[in-house]
Amino acid sequence: MSTEIAAGQPELSELVHASSGAQWLARYQRSMLGVFGTPQRVLVRGAGALVWDADGKEYLDLLGGIAVNALGHAHPFVTSVISSQLATLGHVSNFFASPTQIALAEKLLELSQAPRGSAVFFTNSGAEANEAAFKLARMFGNGSGGGVARKPRILALEGAFHGRTMGALALTAKEAYRKPFEPLPGGVEHLPFGDLAALEEALQSGDVAALFLEPIQGEIGVRPLPEGYLREARRLTREAGALLILDEVQTGIGRTGEWFAWPKLSGLTGGIIEPQELPDAITLAKGLGSGFPVGALIALGEQTARLLGAGSHGTTFGGNPVATAAALATLHTIESGGLLDQVRSRGALLRRNLADIAHITEVRGSGLLIGFDLDTPIAAQMVLAALELGFIINSPGPSTIRLAPPLILSQEQADSFIAALPKIIDLALNSDKPNPSATNSEKSTPAESEAK
Ligand SMILES: *Cc1c(COP(=O)(O)O)cnc(C)c1O
Repeated sequence: MSTEIAAGQPELSELVHASSGAQWLARYQRSMLGVFGTPQRVLVRGAGALVWDADGKEYLDLLGGIAVNALGHAHPFVTSVISSQLATLGHVSNFFASPTQIALAEKLLELSQAPRGSAVFFTNSGAEANEAAFKLARMFGNGSGGGVARKPRILALEGAFHGRTMGALALTAKEAYRKPFEPLPGGVEHLPFGDLAALEEALQSGDVAALFLEPIQGEIGVRPLPEGYLREARRLTREAGALLILDEVQTGIGRTGEWFAWPKLSGLTGGIIEPQELPDAITLAKGLGSGFPVGALIALGEQTARLLGAGSHGTTFGGNPVATAAALATLHTIESGGLLDQVRSRGALLRRNLADIAHITEVRGSGLLIGFDLDTPIAAQMVLAALELGFIINSPGPSTIRLAPPLILSQEQADSFIAALPKIIDLALNSDKPNPSATNSEKSTPAESEAK
């Protein structure tokens, strides 16, 4: 069969019947399930940290698809690798393996300093990576695959966001997300955030299978675990015979200026990590494929990796050759371009500059995962004002703004936002209450917005 495109094939724009922004929104409302509310704009094109809407307006994307577009939009190398892999071999079932999948697993094990016997499971999303981790924890708790006693309890933290599928939702704390879908998988308890005494007490009975932690809680407005918590949590879970599972879906792959956020938060600043300091598993997704859907569960150590044996879990798309090629290209570009250093310095300067702006009361975060609070609940209005001025930002709470721009954000671009911010705040202060459906919110409060 010829690989040439047959004559007379239409342009993609003809298949989608390109419209104006307003027409697109009307079509959206007639065709899409309403879970995301009304989208802010219909975006048609991107390049680097810039995107354009259907009416040709340009925006600096300081949200990066919610910490996903690590290398920005239409990155030339990622695009070329994806295209060449798709033109070579696009999908095989998991009865077969592919080179990109194996190479990516090896690379992730190297980056996580995984001991011998560690292993990777690929998924299409963060929720799926956490579902796999949930099953890993259950298998451990149920005593199969090397576990000992029955440990029915799983711990997570208040404020946690681990995804929207039923298992991941059981780990997620927010009542408004959980309540309508009960009963959820049982045995999950949410402990007070950052409270080591509560953790110690919860672990005392020895019937806890796992503790799930985000090193920095992104969805609640970029809230890092308090100093000392993570390292102590590792020690306590180890002593209690419970797994420590870190959700680095949002924080991983360079977002904080490190491959993973957890070592620095554990006070491990040196290069080599002792095996007893490692978590038992790490989940990844968001930035891993620079916008191509790919996630991963890294099971650290042979005992943990063996918990999920042949037939115990599976996926059709997970580990897809194109997705894993996208991730390989992403990791290579971050590494070869010295992007981690750049993310650290750019993020630090951005946070310093934010702290100097009137009405901003607190700035949090690490690298290019940044949250800041306002002295008044204008975050939803700020999202709209920013759009008007050509900036995409996000409001995870009524008085909180989150930024998660592409890691390739230039200094000039960062400065342009800092320069525009007083005006954005001013417009927000002087605007009427926004129409809730016009913000990047889902429901509950107008200013809130979440991952998905
Ligand atoms: C976004 C996110 C998830 C869910 O990932 P999806 O790809 O939306 O399923 C899970 N955990 C954290 C920390 C996240 O930020």
